Amino acid sequence: MSTYARKDITFTKGQGIWLWDENGEKYLDALSGIAVCGLGHAHPKIANVIAKQASALLHTSNIYRIRTQEQLGDRLCAVSNMDRAFFCNSGAEANEAAIKLARLHGNKQSIKIPTIIVCENSFHGRTMATLTATGNRKAHAGFEPLVAGFIRAPFNDSETIAEICKNNSNVCAILVEPIQGEGGIHIPNNTYLQELRSLCDQHNLLLMLDEIQTGNGRTGKWFACHHQQVLPDVMTTAKGLGNGMPIGACLARGAAAELFAPGSHGSTFGGNPLACATALQVLTTIKEDDLLSNATSMGQLLVDTLKQTLADHPLVKDIRGCGMMIGIELKMPCTKIVNLALEKKLLVNVTANNIIRLLPPLITSQDEITMIANLICECVEDFQQRL
Ligand SMILES: *Cc1c(COP(=O)(O)O)cnc(C)c1O
Repeated sequence: MSTYARKDITFTKGQGIWLWDENGEKYLDALSGIAVCGLGHAHPKIANVIAKQASALLHTSNIYRIRTQEQLGDRLCAVSNMDRAFFCNSGAEANEAAIKLARLHGNKQSIKIPTIIVCENSFHGRTMATLTATGNRKAHAGFEPLVAGFIRAPFNDSETIAEICKNNSNVCAILVEPIQGEGGIHIPNNTYLQELRSLCDQHNLLLMLDEIQTGNGRTGKWFACHHQQVLPDVMTTAKGLGNGMPIGACLARGAAAELFAPGSHGSTFGGNPLACATALQVLTTIKEDDLLSNATSMGQLLVDTLKQTLADHPLVKDIRGCGMMIGIELKMPCTKIVNLALEKKLLVNVTANNIIRLLPPLITSQDEITMIANLICECVEDFQQRL
């Protein structure tokens, strides 16, 4: 169905941060399939583990034990500092699990209408509950009635959330992205998550962080909340976890990790041997190849290089980033830059109308960073000339 305004271009092959289209034209991928292919394309270790697992076993069922799922759960909990994992197949599904945990947490305390605080400008997915949680009217339009039990606050404003908590005894959880991705790479002040953490502790709410885009090394830490030394009660992740193999996870800690019981949630495909073996290899490779520090230093280099040319550019409002999650905010709508970049064989996207978003693979080298920065500067110049 017509769910995407697709570019008329088809890729048939990839290698590292490079893609080739049907005509053999080579492109620099600074988007990683929207924060998915952190290890780049056709990574030999990933290709190998998929082939090996596929010839051993693809699927049994969650009614039996799955060794690779148990190993992945252990590893994911170790790197995230969470206690238990539920596996599913996408980000939206991971958030659905989180929302169900919040409802269980609220109902357990006999809250009348368990209500989750969510943020303006947020993105949490396309299912009915997650599109309701999403802070974008366009995502809602035409899909009413929306799901009950959500209340909205501005992002990066813990005072408003404190007010809501004080006045609304139905609140049972806060769901927020530690850095807004689709919303335009908005990085909150560095005490925001701590402030939310203490509000949750004070009011017995679940702090639920959507790390679907920010997780798995994207920001230079395993998870973005680690930048603020804050642990949530519930954390969701997906995108980079499988490097292209569909997998999502809802992680929980403490009492929140004990809310589900047999029968309260499930998934046929979630946590299957193939997806879990792949994700386990993704986590192993991030560690073995020191990709957290590469994402940190290369992300910083990209921001610094962009700033050298664009910081004082008349069209540029702000350049910001955290690891390999970078936004260049222009002073006007700039969706046309996507096509200008495509002409230069560079893949980027524009989010929230006026923010060029770069999500290069975590493996990107210094030379490749320079290429991305130079091409972006050319694109902004071209864009200005065509205004
Ligand atoms: C992509 C994304 C989702 C939705 O993930 P899907 O796999 O597309 O369902 C949810 N939250 C955030 C922050 C995302 O970036």
